[in-house]
Amino acid sequence: MNLSYDYNIIIKIMDTNIAHWSLLPASQQPVYDFDELKAVISHLANSQPIVSYPEIQALKNELSNCHFGKKLILIIGDCAEAFSDCKPSILQAKLDTYEKYRRAFSIKSKKEIVMIGRIAGQFSKPRSDLYENHGGIQIPTYRGDMINGFDPNFRQPDPYRMIEGHTKSLDTIGFIRNFHRNSHQKFWTGHEALLLPYEDALTRSIENEYFDTSAHFLWIGERCRKLGQAHVEFLSQISNPVGIKIGPNADLEELQSIMRFLNYENEYGKLILIPRLGNNIIRMQFPSVVQAVKRTGIPHIWVIDPMHGNTYKTNQGLKTRSVSSILNECIESIKILRENRESLGGFHFEASYEEVTECVGGNAGITEESLNKKYKTLCDPRLSRSQMLEILKILGSLIAK
Ligand code: PEP
Ligand code: MN
Repeated sequence: MNLSYDYNIIIKIMDTNIAHWSLLPASQQPVYDFDELKAVISHLANSQPIVSYPEIQALKNELSNCHFGKKLILIIGDCAEAFSDCKPSILQAKLDTYEKYRRAFSIKSKKEIVMIGRIAGQFSKPRSDLYENHGGIQIPTYRGDMINGFDPNFRQPDPYRMIEGHTKSLDTIGFIRNFHRNSHQKFWTGHEALLLPYEDALTRSIENEYFDTSAHFLWIGERCRKLGQAHVEFLSQISNPVGIKIGPNADLEELQSIMRFLNYENEYGKLILIPRLGNNIIRMQFPSVVQAVKRTGIPHIWVIDPMHGNTYKTNQGLKTRSVSSILNECIESIKILRENRESLGGFHFEASYEEVTECVGGNAGITEESLNKKYKTLCDPRLSRSQMLEILKILGSLIAK
């Protein structure tokens, strides 16, 4: 097996669904044994879709209500979902909590909320560093349960984890359907479309359109958003609503081209833009991003991610974020959108269902020193349940004004 890591490989899978992407450079892809990968792909290509295409269409419809502020979007969940969280007690707790988030935000903002969980498939992570120090030796970094294991002994990418990810996603979506059976609330799923062989194998062609049935909504992250490369190509081929993250280094002309490429039919409910600039630069950079986007005339929805531009490491080496910079970035984003006569579509948060201690601040007074108490995330630091509720109430009230 080829165990080297190459972040710029070309995966040549002959029986791929959407052939074009596999000919382009794809960042953040693990290198697998070719025969094993083929076996996994042919298994997945013949397995059950996780969501149905009428549901995907229905989300697009629902999102078309979010362009001019009629409804708000809340994308929420873990940075990296764990396979071990896929059990009834934890899923129940997550969905109960997400429902509390929805209600708090809805009551305060006086708007209906379109909920998209980072759940039932948020199992692959892009990483800036390929290796990390573990007791003096360099080991491959954790890349999400669908790629390798969090346990330092299981860091080699294993393609069979995609089959487990598919099974866990099916179990989770089944649980979500039961949970929402007696409510009029609809709950949608989304994840980063990072692991292209998996996304491609779950893509189905229906009436000359492709639907990625791994989730209702798919986005590509800051590290994969390159015009002319595999992720953008893949996303351009599917009919699902899609999102792109916009980080501090985004080239505005490239962003405009990506918008044209992904929403070439000028559809409403199709394209979500997810700025994640950071509280320090939001005032300086966001206005020019907004103006460049506006100039395209292409329908788009702004969903603010105040998490990923605000991460820092404490002296003890733990990744964290502060409630005050998260909140500030949101408030500043709302102001900038208003100044530019653009409407706010919603927010994208990483939040736990528990009282974790991963982000500092909030009424519970979590400090850098107390982060150790319940620091459980597999990847980025999440807001605790009470921190998330505080933020949603403040933002909701601000929006209602
Ligand atoms: C994420 O959403 O977990 C993520 C990795 O985001 P970004 O691509 O914006 O860094
Ligand atoms: Mn994250």
